[in-house]
Amino acid sequence: MKPFKIALSKGRPVCLPPKGGRLLSCALCGSPWMNAGGLCRDCEKKLPKKPEDRRIFGIKRTAAALCYEEPAIALVHRFKYQNCRYLAEFFALHMAGEDDFPKGAVLIPVPLHPNRQRQRGFSQTAELCAELSRMTGRRAESALLARSWDTPPQTGLPLADRRANLKGAFTAGDAKGISVILVDDVITSGATLGECANTLNAAGAKAVYALCACSVDNWEAQ
Ligand SMILES: [Zn+2]
Repeated sequence: MKPFKIALSKGRPVCLPPKGGRLLSCALCGSPWMNAGGLCRDCEKKLPKKPEDRRIFGIKRTAAALCYEEPAIALVHRFKYQNCRYLAEFFALHMAGEDDFPKGAVLIPVPLHPNRQRQRGFSQTAELCAELSRMTGRRAESALLARSWDTPPQTGLPLADRRANLKGAFTAGDAKGISVILVDDVITSGATLGECANTLNAAGAKAVYALCACSVDNWEAQ
């Protein structure tokens, strides 16, 4: 069975959204027997395990909901590249379960470069933030962190080069005394989150945490 009908809009593939834009059937196979985690019983068994927390300098706790393995990879691709925005709800359901961060901490989406956002038509991190805000009651503060310039593609680069490419790539507003939770879709090397944290710490943030949908396990070993 094909999970979702794919249509084309302005040349972009678009999943026809469930009724009202909300998740009403299994996010993976489309079965109407969906449980509280957004999947049917069979698909839930296929979901990758929760990864270990990552250690990233400048971030007090970096948590992710799922290891970046199939079928989570397929879901991330559908979410980011096939314009299936409502999958933000699926990922946020799993991310919210990892939220043991201090009361009052605000959600900040990792900013995409405007060019990439324009190509995609939306920001996946902002969508995740909005869903998390709806589920947890936390405030989302997307204006507190911005990307100053586009960085070259990072794929295949060692960590030192990734860090060097990102130096100064973000600017923060006044974050004095604010605890923040950075929200991202996939952690690979952690260089982007690290640079966001440096920027927010330099802007006076009280504490920086991170909450992500997926994390690549053993990145250093690859
Ligand atoms: Zn299913």
